[in-house]
Formats: sequence, C-alpha cells, structure tokens
Amino acid sequence: MATLFNIQHFSIHDGPGIRTTFFFKSCSLHCQWCHNPESISPQRQLEFFPVKCIGCGACFSVCPTGAHQARPDGHFIDRALCQRCGICAENCYSEALVMVGKEYTLEELREEALKDRPFYEASGGGVTLSGGEVLLQSQEAAAFLRLCKEEGLHTVVDTAGFVPWEAFQEVLPYTDLFLYDIKSLDRDRHTRYVGADPARIVENFQRLAQSQAHIWVRVPLIPDVNDRPEDMQALAGLVRPYLSSVERVELLPYHRLGENKYISLGQDYALAGIEPPSGEHVQDCVAQLKAAGVPAMTE
Ligand code: SF4
Ligand code: SF4
Repeated sequence: MATLFNIQHFSIHDGPGIRTTFFFKSCSLHCQWCHNPESISPQRQLEFFPVKCIGCGACFSVCPTGAHQARPDGHFIDRALCQRCGICAENCYSEALVMVGKEYTLEELREEALKDRPFYEASGGGVTLSGGEVLLQSQEAAAFLRLCKEEGLHTVVDTAGFVPWEAFQEVLPYTDLFLYDIKSLDRDRHTRYVGADPARIVENFQRLAQSQAHIWVRVPLIPDVNDRPEDMQALAGLVRPYLSSVERVELLPYHRLGENKYISLGQDYALAGIEPPSGEHVQDCVAQLKAAGVPAMTE
C-alpha cells in the first residue's frame, strides 16, 4: 500500500505532455515556501476550510475528543486533541472538513494511471510520481513504476533527492525521466530555509547524472533566498559537467497559492508577506544561467 495525498489528472507542469501526477505523502525536508504543506506529515491530517462551513454543528456532535470548539471568535479546532479519526469529515456535507491522506493498492494506482492513456498517447505524456518526497516510499514507487512500464507508459519521478541512494537504485530501472529539485547550494541558507544540509542532495544528483539518467533540474526561485548572481553561478557550476544527462534547468518562480493551505491545517506560514519575483528578474536569472552554458528556462 502507498500513502498519497492527491492524484491529479491532466497535469501539464510535471514533465512532458499531459500527465497524471501521483502525490505521495511524507517529506524529509521542510521548505519554508512549500505550497503543499499537507504533503509533509506521513500521517492523515484534518483540513478545515471555514469559507465552506454552513454552521450545521455536526462536527461538534460527532467528534469523540471535543476537538471542535465554539469560541467567541468562531469555530476552533484544538489540534492537540484531534486523533485524526476522520469522523467529523465524514459528517461534514459541505466539505468544509476534509481528511488528507489515503492508502492505495497497486491495482488502484494502476487503474488511475490507465484512465488517461489516450491523452498520454496524443500528447507524449504519461505518469509522474511526486510528493512530498516519493522516494520515502521507494519500494511502493518502484512497484508502481514497473507496472506503468509494463503498460508502455512514460514515467517521471519528481524528487528533492534527500533520501538514501538506494532509493534511487530501486526506481532507476523503471524511470524515463527525473525531475530533480535543487533549492540552494549555499549550505547555511539551505539549512535555514529547507531544514537540512544540501550535501546528500548534491551527491545523489551527481550519482544520478553519472548513471546517464535523463534529468530536468527544477529550482523554485525564492526572493532573497536563492535568486542572487552567486546562486546562479553555483547552480551552473553543479549542472554544467552533466549536460549529457541534464536536458534542462527550469526556474519555477515563487508564488503564494499555498498560503491558505497552512491556514486550513492550523499552521503558521513562515514566508508570509514575501512577494513573487518579477518577470523581469526571473528572465534575468534565466539569462545568467544561459550565459554560463546551462539550458535554462522558466515556466
Ligand atoms: S460539520 Fe462542516 S459545515 Fe457543519 S459545522 Fe462542522 S465544519 Fe461546519
Ligand atoms: S478527525 Fe476525529 S478527533 Fe479529529 S476533529 Fe475530527 S472527529 Fe475529532
């Protein structure tokens, strides 16, 4: 069984063509700008969207722990009391309460993947395994990828690389393309904003490139974190020796679309107030990489 938090059909941003993207739950990093905060915990989680609440009171009645509380400033969920049983979400007919995280069998995943075969064939698309960090469930991922290859589907693995190398070895035989996320090569900044030393990510990237895997490097471009000229130089220096494997470097400009998810999970958003980079600045970063000999682009 694999634990996922979403399956997105008709995705056009997770590899070539039209794809079905399978989002695996759990992550080994904690990027402060993460736009999928519901991906990080390996456990099921309760999301609350107050704008959908019709005030029926069902959740107050059914919750066995009293986590739903009426307070002077509105409907409050005491997350410390929540045991993630999901009963309140099952009884919330307006879908203001939603449980995130579900276990799937391989057969269920295969059925989801095959639903859109005609679209893959027409567009050169296929299946993408993403997260969270999909390689934290590398055995399940490898088994699913093998099934996809048996069906003749194009396969992509989207990883942040902060896993043991053995996880890559499990999926390598069944993966046509890796989307490899690199946040920063500045050790202090990476540790501060992402929550880990980047050394393992760099080492796995180099080993993957040396294995002649096909790779698209993807960099979330975060203002004042990894968008300085020295960041572009360091990135180009890492990628340039491996251009026989690295087909492109994509800069993904920071956006604020995930901010409301933090509210729905009752969490703080560390980068509140940060504005997305201007189009001009993004193009300037692309130009710096190109000038350094790297096949860079943006969305
Ligand atoms: S069950 Fe849903 S709609 Fe009803 S009060 Fe609770 S959150 Fe609101
Ligand atoms: S998931 Fe269960 S314990 Fe948590 S608030 Fe809902 S009913 Fe209560």
